[in-house]
Parts: sequence; structure tokens; C-alpha cells
Amino acid sequence: MKRYSFLELAKNAFSAHQNWGRQWRAPEPKAEYDVVIVGAGGHGLATAYYLAREHGIRNVAVIEKGWLGGGNTGRNTTIVRSNYLWEESAALYNHAIGLWQNLSQELNYNVMYSARGVMMLAHTIHDVQVSQRHIHANRLAGVQNEWLTPEQARDYCPPLNISKNIRYPVMGAALQRVGGTARHDAVAWGYARGADALGVDIIQNCAVTGIRRSQDGSVEGVETAKGFIKAGKVGVVAAGHSSVVMEMAGVRLPLESFPLQALVSEPVKPAFPCVVMSNTIHAYISQSDKGELVIGAGTDQFISYSQTGGIHISNHTIDAICELFPHFRRMRMLRNWGGIVDTTPDRSPILSKTPVPGLYVNCGWGTGGFKATPGSGHVFAHTIARDEPHPINAPFTIDRFRTGRLIDEAAAAAVAH
Ligand SMILES: Cc1cc2nc3c(=O)[nH]c(=O)nc-3n(C[C@H](O)[C@H](O)[C@H](O)COP(=O)(O)OP(=O)(O)OC[C@H]3O[C@@H](n4cnc5c(N)ncnc54)[C@H](O)[C@@H]3O)c2cc1C
Repeated sequence: MKRYSFLELAKNAFSAHQNWGRQWRAPEPKAEYDVVIVGAGGHGLATAYYLAREHGIRNVAVIEKGWLGGGNTGRNTTIVRSNYLWEESAALYNHAIGLWQNLSQELNYNVMYSARGVMMLAHTIHDVQVSQRHIHANRLAGVQNEWLTPEQARDYCPPLNISKNIRYPVMGAALQRVGGTARHDAVAWGYARGADALGVDIIQNCAVTGIRRSQDGSVEGVETAKGFIKAGKVGVVAAGHSSVVMEMAGVRLPLESFPLQALVSEPVKPAFPCVVMSNTIHAYISQSDKGELVIGAGTDQFISYSQTGGIHISNHTIDAICELFPHFRRMRMLRNWGGIVDTTPDRSPILSKTPVPGLYVNCGWGTGGFKATPGSGHVFAHTIARDEPHPINAPFTIDRFRTGRLIDEAAAAAVAH
């Protein structure tokens, strides 16, 4: 793989950037692989990358029905943080934060991780109490989080309206300084390039249509638009379509799929220095490096596979944002879109072996899986390679919905981006 460097950039400038090589190959699928990953989102590509890099398993294919990164990875609002409530979650998301810090160097690809701080607002006495409990729980689990008064919050984010005469006055905020954003496409592309260089085949425009099981019940391979592909192990990482794909192997998952929407404004000069979220009024906002304000909310109310969603959700979100940030009232919105998120009853992911030998699943990230991409891929690769969970994902089994050992992050997940 050609390493990107200042020297390469300068050399290519002399040929008008016409001679950069392809970032990854476009191979035809082989008849057989050691591992097939279904879904080339960030999590699937990261899994393939770590399988090859950390476990030496390079005979791997990632099969994608569309284009890589075209699912939720390319649709999300890129917020990264680890201030979840329970220790199990804190360990998982903090593992990811650790990997984010050095990811650009590791992949030799600028994923634009920017630790600009994520501030979560409190608008009522109840919010204040819950946020402070959250901060204490985080600190006990070694997760960075701190309390700000309204004035400190405004100093951190000058456009914030802390007047007491609005419907939802700001009574304080929890700030995680290591939280922030990363560039979603670059994360998918960086992992794709890294995995490809290690020998992983990424097969795009090739839907998986079936999962074949042998007589003893174990996985034999996948049926695809390009024919049958034999595989010793299959990892399903299909986000909003996880239940559909797992049904192909006869496994029912406790998942519901909802549209989740986001929108961006016209681009403006740097005006918004951090990420601000409000669970109470269901809205959050940051500014992309292109200058667009990136705005989102909670999920639509009805399960659906439509990637559009109801317009009233966007209207409600804009109302809330304009109230908190009156400066933005005159801005025009450029575009909005939706993605299909897969939510579990406890709003925590499933990263697990399944009752089918050789079949593994990574799903249930709901509205908040982008931030976990490196950590999720890292521990899922371990689970597939060793046929046993990494200690970090050991609690995130399917079985917890039978045993009752839930990891309830529903409060964190109101708008858990
Ligand atoms: C609007 C929106 C905003 C969000 N904001 C945030 C945020 O700010 N922070 C955050 O942490 N998270 C956020 N999320 C959630 C986050 O995007 C997801 O949790 C995460 O990207 C999931 O990554 P993935 O790789 O598992 O899924 P995806 O990127 O969706 O990849 C799954 C892939 O599987 C493919 N696939 C499905 N079925 C098949 C099949 N039969 N055969 C082959 N391929 C198949 C799909 O085409 C897709 O490319 C947001 C989501 C949305 C929709």
C-alpha cells in the first residue's frame, strides 16, 4: 500500500493529482473464505481490518449490498463520546475513544477525529440530578465527564442562549472534553483501504440473500447475488437490516428498526465550537469542517425501513435548535435524510456469538454506534477469531434478554448520538 505523506502529496501535485492509485481493489468473490463479514459499514470494515491485522486471518471477504459506507456510517452525525451510564458501556465506548486518538496515524488516513467536547444540557431540576449522578458514575468508571454552570456552559459554547425566559432554560451541562466528532466517510474509507492492503476482499453491489447451514446446524456460507460463497465463519454487521439477515439463518433477534433523521444547514464560517445535545428537547447540533451546521434528533415514532422519515420530526428539531441558538434562526437548511437504526430493548448493542455455530452478530447500536466503530470492530474481530468474546464485549450477549442481565442505556439513548 502506498503510504500517504507530505512528499506523496507534493509529488502528485506536479501531475495534477491524476496518478493517485486506487484506494482498494474491486475483486470478484472467491469460492471460499475463512470469514465472511456481511455489511461494509464502519463496523464491518473495522472487524475485517482487525481480523487481518491482529489475528492474522486474511482470507476474509466483506460483502456489501450497496457501496461501502453507504449505510448508517455515511448517514450519521459523527458524534463521538463515551459518557454512558453503566460500567459495561463505559468500558466499551472508552475502548473506542482510546482507539480514536491514534486512528489517523494507525490507518495512515485522516479520519478527522476532533476532540472538541460534547456538552449535554440540563433544563429541569430532574435533568440536573440525573446529569450529576451520571457524572459521578462516569468518574467512578474512569470516564471523563464534568459539571458546568450555565455561565461556564455559555463560555464553552458562546452561541448558547442561557436566558431564563425561554421554555427550556439551561440549568447546567455535563461536558465530556474528549468527546467530539470524526469524519464518517473517512472512517469507512480508512478501514477499507487498510483491510484491502492486508488482503481482505471487499465485494460491493452484492447482496447476501441467504445463510446456508450444514446438517449439524453450523454455518456453511452465504448465498449472494454473485452466487454461493463458502465460509467457515460468518459475521453479520448489517445495522438496520440485522434482523432481516439473521432471519436467513433462522435466528430471531430482539430488534426494532426505526428511521432516524438528520439535516444540515447552508455552510457558514466557524461559528460553533463544540457539540451540544439536549435529551429533554430532543435535539443536538455541531458544525462540520465544511461549515454546515449538523442537526439531529431522536428516532421517528414508527418502525419502518423507509430512509426518509416524517417531516414533522425535522420541524420539531429546528424549533428546539432555534430556541437554544437564536442566532441560527435566519439560516437556511440545505438537505435532510434518514437512516434505519436497529434498537434493542435495553438500547445497548449485541456483540456476540449466536446459537448457530460459526455465526456471529454485531448489531443493536441504535442511534449511537458510530462513536464505537473502532472499539466495536476490535472486540468483534477477537470474538470471531477466538470463538469467545473479548472481556469488554462479554456482557453484550443475545442471551441477556433471556437472563435479564440488561445494560439499560435508555436514558442515555434518548438522543444518544
Ligand atoms: C441520522 C443518523 C444520525 C446518527 N448519528 C450518530 C452520531 O452522531 N453518533 C453515533 O455514534 N452514531 C450515530 N448514528 C448511528 C450510527 O450511524 C450507527 O450506529 C453506525 O454507523 C452503524 O454502523 P454499521 O457499520 O454497523 O452500519 P452501516 O454503516 O449501516 O453498515 C451496515 C451495512 O450492511 C449492509 N447490508 C444490509 N443488508 C445487507 C445484505 N443483505 N447483504 C449485504 N449487505 C447488507 C448495508 O448496506 C450497510 O452498508 C446515527 C445514525 C443515523 C441514521
